Amino acid sequence: MHRRAHFTFLGLLAASACFAQGDPDVNKRIIDIGKNHNQVMKHLDTLTHKIGPRLTGSPNLEKAMNWFMEQFKKIGCQNVHTEQWGEWPVGFHRGQRQIGRMVSPWKLDFEFTSPSWTPGTTGLMRGPAVVAPTTMEEFNAVKGKLKGAWLVSQTAPPRGAAGAAPTDLDTAIAESGILGRVSGSRNELVLTSGNYRIEWDKLPTMRRITVRKSDMDSIMTGINAGRDVQLEFDMEQSFVKGPRKHANVIAEIPGTEKPDEVVIVSGHLDSWDGPSGQGALDNGTGVSVALEAARILMAAGAKPKRTIRFILWTGEEQGLFGSTEYVKQHEAELPKISAVFVDDGGTNYEGGLTCTAEMEPVLKKAQEPMTGVFPDMPFEIKVATRIPRGGGSDHAPFNAAGVPGFFWFETGRSDYNFVHHTQHDRYEFAIPEYLVQSSTNSAIMSYNLACADALLPREKPATPPPTGAGGR
Ligand SMILES: [Zn+2]
Repeated sequence: MHRRAHFTFLGLLAASACFAQGDPDVNKRIIDIGKNHNQVMKHLDTLTHKIGPRLTGSPNLEKAMNWFMEQFKKIGCQNVHTEQWGEWPVGFHRGQRQIGRMVSPWKLDFEFTSPSWTPGTTGLMRGPAVVAPTTMEEFNAVKGKLKGAWLVSQTAPPRGAAGAAPTDLDTAIAESGILGRVSGSRNELVLTSGNYRIEWDKLPTMRRITVRKSDMDSIMTGINAGRDVQLEFDMEQSFVKGPRKHANVIAEIPGTEKPDEVVIVSGHLDSWDGPSGQGALDNGTGVSVALEAARILMAAGAKPKRTIRFILWTGEEQGLFGSTEYVKQHEAELPKISAVFVDDGGTNYEGGLTCTAEMEPVLKKAQEPMTGVFPDMPFEIKVATRIPRGGGSDHAPFNAAGVPGFFWFETGRSDYNFVHHTQHDRYEFAIPEYLVQSSTNSAIMSYNLACADALLPREKPATPPPTGAGGR
Protein backbone atom coordinates (compact mmCIF):
# COMPACT_ATOMS: atom_id res chain seq x y z
CA MET A 1 0.00 0.00 0.00
CA HIS A 2 2.73 2.47 0.87
CA ARG A 3 4.29 2.06 -2.54
CA ARG A 4 1.30 3.60 -4.29
CA ALA A 5 1.30 6.51 -1.84
CA HIS A 6 4.70 7.51 -3.15
CA PHE A 7 3.16 8.56 -6.45
CA THR A 8 1.28 11.50 -5.01
CA PHE A 9 2.76 14.63 -3.54
CA LEU A 10 0.66 14.40 -0.39
CA GLY A 11 1.45 10.74 -0.14
CA LEU A 12 5.14 11.51 -0.40
CA LEU A 13 4.91 14.03 2.41
CA ALA A 14 2.96 11.58 4.50
CA ALA A 15 5.43 8.80 3.76
CA SER A 16 8.50 10.80 4.67
CA ALA A 17 6.88 12.16 7.81
CA CYS A 18 5.75 8.69 8.75
CA PHE A 19 9.16 7.14 8.52
CA ALA A 20 11.26 10.06 9.80
CA GLN A 21 14.76 9.35 10.96
CA GLY A 22 17.00 10.77 13.60
CA ASP A 23 19.31 13.74 13.16
CA PRO A 24 21.55 13.29 10.06
CA ASP A 25 24.59 14.68 11.87
CA VAL A 26 24.11 12.19 14.68
CA ASN A 27 23.79 9.40 12.12
CA LYS A 28 27.08 10.52 10.56
CA ARG A 29 28.79 10.50 13.93
CA ILE A 30 27.38 7.04 14.77
CA ILE A 31 28.77 5.70 11.52
CA ASP A 32 32.17 7.31 12.08
CA ILE A 33 32.53 6.15 15.68
CA GLY A 34 31.05 2.74 14.90
CA LYS A 35 33.20 2.10 11.88
CA ASN A 36 36.46 3.84 12.76
CA HIS A 37 36.65 3.89 16.55
CA ASN A 38 34.85 0.70 17.49
CA GLN A 39 35.56 -0.98 20.83
CA VAL A 40 33.42 -4.10 20.59
CA MET A 41 36.43 -6.44 20.62
CA LYS A 42 37.73 -4.77 23.76
CA HIS A 43 34.46 -5.56 25.55
CA LEU A 44 34.55 -9.15 24.34
CA ASP A 45 38.19 -9.51 25.38
CA THR A 46 37.46 -8.39 28.93
CA LEU A 47 34.32 -10.50 29.15
CA THR A 48 35.97 -13.72 27.97
CA HIS A 49 39.45 -13.38 29.48
CA LYS A 50 38.84 -11.50 32.73
CA ILE A 51 35.45 -13.04 33.53
CA GLY A 52 34.98 -16.18 31.42
CA PRO A 53 31.91 -18.34 30.86
CA ARG A 54 28.74 -17.35 32.66
CA LEU A 55 26.39 -20.15 33.60
CA THR A 56 23.06 -18.96 34.95
CA GLY A 57 23.27 -18.98 38.73
CA SER A 58 27.09 -19.03 38.77
CA PRO A 59 29.30 -16.56 40.64
CA ASN A 60 30.90 -15.77 37.27
CA LEU A 61 27.62 -14.53 35.84
CA GLU A 62 27.23 -12.22 38.84
CA LYS A 63 30.68 -10.82 38.13
CA ALA A 64 29.75 -10.24 34.50
CA MET A 65 26.50 -8.51 35.45
CA ASN A 66 28.37 -6.14 37.73
CA TRP A 67 31.00 -5.44 35.10
CA PHE A 68 28.37 -4.63 32.47
CA MET A 69 26.47 -2.36 34.83
CA GLU A 70 29.68 -0.49 35.55
CA GLN A 71 30.35 -0.08 31.83
CA PHE A 72 26.84 1.15 31.07
CA LYS A 73 27.17 3.71 33.87
CA LYS A 74 30.62 4.74 32.72
CA ILE A 75 29.45 5.58 29.22
CA GLY A 76 26.57 7.63 30.59
CA CYS A 77 23.54 5.34 30.30
CA GLN A 78 20.79 5.90 32.82
CA ASN A 79 18.49 3.74 34.88
CA VAL A 80 21.13 1.01 35.02
CA HIS A 81 19.73 -1.79 37.14
CA THR A 82 18.88 -5.47 37.37
CA GLU A 83 15.42 -7.01 37.35
CA GLN A 84 14.95 -10.32 39.07
CA TRP A 85 13.10 -13.04 37.20
CA GLY A 86 13.47 -16.08 39.39
CA GLU A 87 15.53 -18.19 41.74
CA TRP A 88 16.87 -21.74 41.82
CA PRO A 89 17.84 -23.78 44.86
CA VAL A 90 21.40 -24.57 43.74
CA GLY A 91 24.11 -22.68 41.89
CA PHE A 92 27.17 -24.11 40.19
CA HIS A 93 30.74 -22.98 39.82
CA ARG A 94 33.22 -24.44 37.36
CA GLY A 95 36.80 -23.42 38.06
CA GLN A 96 39.71 -22.97 35.69
CA ARG A 97 41.49 -26.18 36.76
CA GLN A 98 40.27 -28.67 34.20
CA ILE A 99 42.46 -31.58 33.21
CA GLY A 100 41.48 -34.70 31.27
CA ARG A 101 44.02 -37.07 29.72
CA MET A 102 45.25 -40.57 29.09
CA VAL A 103 48.58 -41.20 30.80
CA SER A 104 49.14 -44.81 29.74
CA PRO A 105 49.76 -46.68 27.45
CA TRP A 106 50.39 -43.40 25.64
CA LYS A 107 49.89 -39.78 26.53
CA LEU A 108 46.93 -37.89 25.15
CA ASP A 109 45.27 -34.67 26.33
CA PHE A 110 41.51 -34.87 25.86
CA GLU A 111 39.12 -32.22 24.69
CA PHE A 112 36.32 -32.90 27.09
CA THR A 113 33.39 -31.53 28.99
CA SER A 114 31.01 -32.53 31.74
CA PRO A 115 27.46 -31.37 32.28
CA SER A 116 26.94 -28.23 34.33
CA TRP A 117 25.48 -28.97 37.78
CA THR A 118 27.38 -32.27 38.08
CA PRO A 119 30.24 -33.06 40.45
CA GLY A 120 33.88 -32.50 39.62
CA THR A 121 36.77 -34.45 41.11
CA THR A 122 38.48 -34.25 44.46
CA GLY A 123 41.83 -33.29 43.01
CA LEU A 124 43.54 -35.35 40.32
CA MET A 125 41.87 -38.76 40.09
CA ARG A 126 43.65 -41.49 38.19
CA GLY A 127 42.24 -44.89 37.40
CA PRO A 128 42.11 -47.65 34.80
CA ALA A 129 39.61 -47.43 31.96
CA VAL A 130 37.07 -50.27 32.02
CA VAL A 131 34.51 -50.74 29.26
CA ALA A 132 31.05 -50.02 30.63
CA PRO A 133 28.83 -53.08 31.02
CA THR A 134 25.49 -52.81 29.25
CA THR A 135 23.73 -55.76 30.94
CA MET A 136 23.73 -57.22 34.46
CA GLU A 137 25.57 -60.22 33.04
CA GLU A 138 28.36 -58.01 31.76
CA PHE A 139 28.33 -56.13 35.03
CA ASN A 140 28.83 -59.31 37.05
CA ALA A 141 31.75 -60.26 34.81
CA VAL A 142 33.65 -57.00 35.51
CA LYS A 143 32.40 -55.95 38.92
CA GLY A 144 35.67 -56.88 40.63
CA LYS A 145 37.51 -54.30 38.50
CA LEU A 146 35.19 -51.35 38.95
CA LYS A 147 36.31 -49.79 42.22
CA GLY A 148 38.49 -46.80 41.39
CA ALA A 149 38.02 -47.22 37.62
CA TRP A 150 36.78 -44.84 34.94
CA LEU A 151 33.92 -46.53 33.12
CA VAL A 152 34.23 -45.84 29.42
CA SER A 153 31.78 -46.20 26.54
CA GLN A 154 31.95 -45.22 22.89
CA THR A 155 28.80 -43.12 23.18
CA ALA A 156 26.81 -41.74 26.09
CA PRO A 157 24.98 -44.47 28.01
CA PRO A 158 21.22 -44.45 27.41
CA ARG A 159 19.41 -42.41 30.02
CA GLY A 160 16.00 -43.33 31.29
CA ALA A 161 13.08 -40.97 30.80
CA ALA A 162 12.96 -38.09 33.26
CA GLY A 163 11.56 -39.26 36.56
CA ALA A 164 11.87 -42.95 35.63
CA ALA A 165 13.28 -45.19 38.34
CA PRO A 166 16.93 -46.21 37.75
CA THR A 167 17.43 -49.66 36.27
CA ASP A 168 19.14 -52.42 38.26
CA LEU A 169 22.22 -51.89 36.10
CA ASP A 170 22.28 -48.12 36.83
CA THR A 171 22.02 -48.82 40.54
CA ALA A 172 24.70 -51.50 40.46
CA ILE A 173 27.06 -49.18 38.59
CA ALA A 174 26.33 -46.26 40.90
CA GLU A 175 27.21 -48.43 43.91
CA SER A 176 30.28 -50.06 42.36
CA GLY A 177 32.82 -47.47 43.47
CA ILE A 178 33.74 -46.20 39.99
CA LEU A 179 35.35 -42.76 39.71
CA GLY A 180 32.88 -41.78 37.00
CA ARG A 181 31.62 -42.41 33.49
CA VAL A 182 33.50 -41.27 30.40
CA SER A 183 31.86 -41.43 27.00
CA GLY A 184 32.78 -40.32 23.51
CA SER A 185 30.91 -37.67 21.55
CA ARG A 186 29.49 -38.32 18.10
CA ASN A 187 32.17 -36.22 16.41
CA GLU A 188 35.05 -33.91 17.29
CA LEU A 189 32.78 -31.49 19.13
CA VAL A 190 32.02 -31.88 22.82
CA LEU A 191 28.77 -30.22 23.80
CA THR A 192 28.01 -28.82 27.22
CA SER A 193 24.53 -28.75 28.69
CA GLY A 194 23.14 -29.62 32.09
CA ASN A 195 20.14 -29.89 34.35
CA TYR A 196 19.67 -27.08 36.89
CA ARG A 197 16.67 -28.78 38.51
CA ILE A 198 18.52 -30.21 41.48
CA GLU A 199 18.08 -29.98 45.24
CA TRP A 200 20.76 -29.10 47.78
CA ASP A 201 20.07 -32.17 49.91
CA LYS A 202 20.01 -34.49 46.90
CA LEU A 203 22.95 -33.34 44.76
CA PRO A 204 24.06 -35.45 41.77
CA THR A 205 26.97 -37.70 42.67
CA MET A 206 27.94 -39.38 39.39
CA ARG A 207 30.82 -37.78 37.46
CA ARG A 208 29.91 -37.74 33.79
CA ILE A 209 32.51 -36.77 31.23
CA THR A 210 32.35 -36.51 27.46
CA VAL A 211 35.54 -36.67 25.41
CA ARG A 212 35.91 -36.16 21.66
CA LYS A 213 35.15 -39.17 19.47
CA SER A 214 38.81 -39.41 18.47
CA ASP A 215 39.85 -39.38 22.14
CA MET A 216 37.49 -42.26 22.88
CA ASP A 217 38.70 -44.11 19.79
CA SER A 218 42.22 -43.86 21.21
CA ILE A 219 41.11 -45.16 24.60
CA MET A 220 39.36 -48.10 22.91
CA THR A 221 42.41 -48.83 20.78
CA GLY A 222 44.43 -49.21 23.97
CA ILE A 223 41.81 -51.39 25.64
CA ASN A 224 41.33 -53.59 22.57
CA ALA A 225 45.09 -54.13 22.39
CA GLY A 226 44.88 -55.52 25.93
CA ARG A 227 46.93 -52.68 27.42
CA ASP A 228 46.50 -51.09 30.83
CA VAL A 229 44.75 -47.82 29.96
CA GLN A 230 45.04 -45.21 32.70
CA LEU A 231 43.00 -42.02 32.66
CA GLU A 232 43.34 -38.90 34.76
CA PHE A 233 40.83 -36.16 35.42
CA ASP A 234 40.99 -33.09 37.58
CA MET A 235 37.83 -31.02 37.36
CA GLU A 236 37.34 -28.12 39.68
CA GLN A 237 33.61 -27.69 40.06
CA SER A 238 31.36 -27.13 43.00
CA PHE A 239 27.74 -26.58 43.90
CA VAL A 240 26.74 -23.28 45.43
CA LYS A 241 24.04 -23.32 48.07
CA GLY A 242 21.06 -21.22 47.07
CA PRO A 243 18.57 -19.90 46.69
CA ARG A 244 20.33 -18.27 43.73
CA LYS A 245 18.46 -15.23 42.48
CA HIS A 246 18.47 -14.55 38.75
CA ALA A 247 18.13 -11.21 37.00
CA ASN A 248 18.46 -9.44 33.66
CA VAL A 249 20.69 -6.37 33.31
CA ILE A 250 19.04 -3.21 32.00
CA ALA A 251 20.38 0.19 30.92
CA GLU A 252 18.78 3.06 29.05
CA ILE A 253 19.24 6.10 26.91
CA PRO A 254 16.01 7.87 27.89
CA GLY A 255 13.80 9.24 25.17
CA THR A 256 13.51 13.04 24.95
CA GLU A 257 9.90 13.17 23.71
CA LYS A 258 8.32 9.81 24.39
CA PRO A 259 10.36 8.24 27.16
CA ASP A 260 7.73 5.59 27.85
CA GLU A 261 8.01 4.25 24.30
CA VAL A 262 10.90 1.88 23.87
CA VAL A 263 13.23 0.20 21.39
CA ILE A 264 15.09 -2.76 22.90
CA VAL A 265 18.61 -3.85 21.90
CA SER A 266 19.59 -7.14 23.49
CA GLY A 267 21.66 -10.29 23.76
CA HIS A 268 21.98 -12.93 26.47
CA LEU A 269 24.70 -12.64 29.07
CA ASP A 270 24.48 -16.19 30.39
CA SER A 271 26.34 -18.97 28.59
CA TRP A 272 27.23 -22.61 28.97
CA ASP A 273 30.46 -23.16 30.83
CA GLY A 274 32.25 -26.18 29.33
CA PRO A 275 35.89 -26.49 30.44
CA SER A 276 37.41 -24.64 27.50
CA GLY A 277 34.41 -22.55 26.44
CA GLN A 278 34.25 -18.85 27.26
CA GLY A 279 30.72 -18.09 26.15
CA ALA A 280 32.43 -15.88 23.59
CA LEU A 281 30.16 -16.33 20.58
CA ASP A 282 27.13 -17.62 22.45
CA ASN A 283 26.53 -14.96 23.37
CA GLY A 284 29.44 -12.78 24.44
CA THR A 285 29.31 -11.26 20.97
CA GLY A 286 25.64 -10.26 21.37
CA VAL A 287 26.10 -8.52 24.72
CA SER A 288 29.34 -6.88 23.58
CA VAL A 289 27.46 -5.59 20.53
CA ALA A 290 24.70 -4.21 22.78
CA LEU A 291 27.20 -2.46 25.04
CA GLU A 292 29.14 -1.09 22.09
CA ALA A 293 25.94 0.14 20.41
CA ALA A 294 25.16 2.01 23.63
CA ARG A 295 28.67 3.44 23.80
CA ILE A 296 28.56 4.57 20.17
CA LEU A 297 25.18 6.25 20.68
CA MET A 298 26.34 8.06 23.81
CA ALA A 299 29.62 9.10 22.18
CA ALA A 300 27.70 10.38 19.15
CA GLY A 301 25.50 12.50 21.41
CA ALA A 302 22.33 10.71 20.30
CA LYS A 303 19.17 12.08 21.88
CA PRO A 304 16.50 9.64 20.69
CA LYS A 305 12.84 10.64 20.94
CA ARG A 306 11.98 7.26 22.40
CA THR A 307 13.94 5.37 25.01
CA ILE A 308 16.55 2.91 23.79
CA ARG A 309 16.73 0.13 26.34
CA PHE A 310 19.64 -2.29 26.44
CA ILE A 311 18.83 -5.63 28.01
CA LEU A 312 21.23 -8.46 28.77
CA TRP A 313 19.10 -11.53 29.33
CA THR A 314 20.04 -14.42 31.59
CA GLY A 315 18.62 -17.92 31.87
CA GLU A 316 18.44 -18.01 28.07
CA GLU A 317 20.23 -21.32 27.73
CA GLN A 318 17.95 -23.12 30.15
CA GLY A 319 14.74 -21.96 28.45
CA LEU A 320 14.55 -18.21 27.65
CA PHE A 321 13.68 -17.56 31.29
CA GLY A 322 14.89 -13.96 31.52
CA SER A 323 12.97 -12.74 28.48
CA THR A 324 9.89 -14.84 29.17
CA GLU A 325 9.56 -13.40 32.68
CA TYR A 326 10.31 -9.89 31.40
CA VAL A 327 7.36 -10.11 29.01
CA LYS A 328 5.12 -11.23 31.89
CA GLN A 329 6.36 -8.58 34.32
CA HIS A 330 6.01 -5.77 31.76
CA GLU A 331 2.76 -6.88 30.21
CA ALA A 332 1.13 -3.47 30.61
CA GLU A 333 3.99 -1.75 28.75
CA LEU A 334 4.19 -4.14 25.80
CA PRO A 335 2.06 -1.94 23.51
CA LYS A 336 4.71 0.77 23.88
CA ILE A 337 7.65 -1.42 22.89
CA SER A 338 8.32 -0.55 19.26
CA ALA A 339 10.70 -3.43 18.51
CA VAL A 340 13.06 -5.86 20.19
CA PHE A 341 16.35 -6.77 18.55
CA VAL A 342 18.21 -9.91 19.58
CA ASP A 343 21.79 -10.53 18.43
CA ASP A 344 22.40 -14.17 19.32
CA GLY A 345 23.75 -16.03 16.33
CA GLY A 346 27.47 -15.94 16.94
CA THR A 347 30.04 -13.70 15.37
CA ASN A 348 28.55 -13.18 11.93
CA TYR A 349 27.26 -9.74 10.99
CA GLU A 350 23.73 -8.36 11.21
CA GLY A 351 22.76 -9.23 7.66
CA GLY A 352 19.08 -8.41 7.73
CA LEU A 353 15.75 -9.44 9.20
CA THR A 354 12.28 -10.66 8.32
CA CYS A 355 9.32 -8.33 8.85
CA THR A 356 5.81 -7.72 7.56
CA ALA A 357 4.97 -5.43 4.63
CA GLU A 358 3.72 -2.73 7.03
CA MET A 359 7.00 -2.70 8.92
CA GLU A 360 9.27 -2.77 5.89
CA PRO A 361 9.34 0.95 4.95
CA VAL A 362 9.97 2.00 8.55
CA LEU A 363 12.81 -0.47 9.03
CA LYS A 364 14.28 0.39 5.63
CA LYS A 365 14.27 4.05 6.52
CA ALA A 366 15.86 3.33 9.89
CA GLN A 367 18.64 1.31 8.26
CA GLU A 368 19.22 3.77 5.41
CA PRO A 369 22.23 5.56 6.97
CA MET A 370 24.10 2.22 6.79
CA THR A 371 23.80 2.15 3.00
CA GLY A 372 27.25 1.65 1.48
CA VAL A 373 29.04 1.86 4.84
CA PHE A 374 30.04 -1.81 4.89
CA PRO A 375 29.92 -2.67 1.19
CA ASP A 376 31.02 -6.28 1.75
CA MET A 377 28.22 -6.90 4.24
CA PRO A 378 24.92 -6.37 2.47
CA PHE A 379 21.73 -6.02 4.52
CA GLU A 380 18.53 -7.68 3.38
CA ILE A 381 14.97 -7.09 4.56
CA LYS A 382 12.68 -10.01 3.79
CA VAL A 383 8.94 -9.50 3.84
CA ALA A 384 6.63 -12.20 5.16
CA THR A 385 3.04 -12.29 6.36
CA ARG A 386 4.32 -12.89 9.88
CA ILE A 387 7.64 -12.60 11.67
CA PRO A 388 8.99 -16.17 11.91
CA ARG A 389 8.09 -17.86 15.17
CA GLY A 390 10.45 -19.91 17.25
CA GLY A 391 14.10 -19.24 16.57
CA GLY A 392 15.15 -20.33 20.02
CA SER A 393 16.20 -17.01 21.46
CA ASP A 394 14.91 -14.11 23.50
CA HIS A 395 12.89 -12.48 20.73
CA ALA A 396 10.46 -15.42 20.81
CA PRO A 397 8.50 -14.47 23.96
CA PHE A 398 7.97 -10.97 22.50
CA ASN A 399 6.68 -12.26 19.20
CA ALA A 400 4.36 -14.59 21.06
CA ALA A 401 2.98 -11.53 22.88
CA GLY A 402 2.55 -9.53 19.64
CA VAL A 403 5.61 -7.28 20.06
CA PRO A 404 7.85 -7.28 16.95
CA GLY A 405 10.94 -9.26 17.98
CA PHE A 406 13.77 -9.59 15.50
CA PHE A 407 16.54 -12.14 15.38
CA TRP A 408 19.13 -10.74 12.97
CA PHE A 409 20.15 -12.84 10.01
CA GLU A 410 23.65 -13.79 11.02
CA THR A 411 25.43 -13.56 7.70
CA GLY A 412 29.07 -14.42 7.09
CA ARG A 413 31.73 -17.07 7.07
CA SER A 414 31.61 -18.24 10.70
CA ASP A 415 30.23 -21.76 11.17
CA TYR A 416 27.95 -21.47 14.18
CA ASN A 417 27.74 -25.24 14.74
CA PHE A 418 31.50 -25.34 15.32
CA VAL A 419 31.23 -23.00 18.31
CA HIS A 420 27.67 -23.32 19.60
CA HIS A 421 27.86 -24.92 23.10
CA THR A 422 31.20 -26.53 22.17
CA GLN A 423 34.82 -26.33 23.31
CA HIS A 424 35.39 -23.77 20.55
CA ASP A 425 33.15 -21.05 21.96
CA ARG A 426 36.20 -18.87 22.39
CA TYR A 427 37.39 -15.35 21.72
CA GLU A 428 39.84 -16.42 19.03
CA PHE A 429 36.93 -17.45 16.80
CA ALA A 430 35.29 -14.02 16.87
CA ILE A 431 35.48 -12.05 13.60
CA PRO A 432 36.19 -8.39 14.44
CA GLU A 433 34.93 -6.72 11.26
CA TYR A 434 31.57 -8.47 11.58
CA LEU A 435 31.13 -7.28 15.15
CA VAL A 436 32.07 -3.76 14.10
CA GLN A 437 29.23 -3.89 11.57
CA SER A 438 26.85 -5.44 14.12
CA SER A 439 27.40 -2.81 16.77
CA THR A 440 27.19 0.05 14.27
CA ASN A 441 24.05 -1.41 12.72
CA SER A 442 22.43 -1.95 16.13
CA ALA A 443 23.15 1.68 17.01
CA ILE A 444 21.78 3.03 13.72
CA MET A 445 18.66 0.88 13.71
CA SER A 446 17.74 1.54 17.32
CA TYR A 447 18.41 5.28 17.09
CA ASN A 448 16.37 5.83 13.95
CA LEU A 449 13.50 3.60 15.05
CA ALA A 450 13.49 5.48 18.33
CA CYS A 451 13.21 8.72 16.32
CA ALA A 452 10.55 7.51 13.85
CA ASP A 453 7.22 9.26 13.98
CA ALA A 454 5.36 6.20 15.13
CA LEU A 455 5.94 2.86 16.78
CA LEU A 456 6.66 0.02 14.42
CA PRO A 457 3.32 -1.29 13.08
CA ARG A 458 2.19 -4.56 14.66
CA GLU A 459 1.59 -7.77 12.81
CA LYS A 460 -1.94 -8.52 11.83
CA PRO A 461 -3.36 -11.24 14.07
CA ALA A 462 -2.86 -14.71 12.61
CA THR A 463 -5.81 -16.01 10.64
CA PRO A 464 -7.48 -18.69 12.71
CA PRO A 465 -7.23 -22.15 11.15
CA PRO A 466 -10.35 -23.26 9.22
CA THR A 467 -12.81 -25.01 11.46
CA GLY A 468 -12.67 -28.76 11.24
CA ALA A 469 -8.89 -28.77 10.77
CA GLY A 470 -7.35 -31.51 12.85
CA GLY A 471 -5.16 -30.55 15.78
CA ARG A 472 -1.64 -31.89 16.18
ZN1 LIG B 1 22.70 -18.04 22.58
